[in-house]
Amino acid sequence: MTFIPRQEEFICEQCGATVTPLSHDSYRNHCPKCLHSKHVDSSGPGSRDATCLGLMEPIGIDGQAGSGFIILHQCTQCGKKEKNKAASDDALTQAISSLFH
Ligand SMILES: [Zn+2]
Ligand SMILES: [Zn+2]
Repeated sequence: MTFIPRQEEFICEQCGATVTPLSHDSYRNHCPKCLHSKHVDSSGPGSRDATCLGLMEPIGIDGQAGSGFIILHQCTQCGKKEKNKAASDDALTQAISSLFH
């Protein structure tokens, strides 16, 4: 069975939160509450061609206020690092934005 997750609701494997798709932003690939993601992209964001499917832990933050934040994820299975744009309603985005204001 092949299941290709795209803009669909999913349950976060880390904290159990129900993650709903964004309607106004780019696609969401991580949990807005605990910021964990899943290793589903191999050749680029949204490619969904990875076979690892490991849990991606947030290990750092990049970016600037105003232009959006980048979350650095590292896969707990294979160690691959990915950069993911933080969504506007991520708990982290809101917390950091308030620091810079
Ligand atoms: Zn979560
Ligand atoms: Zn991986």
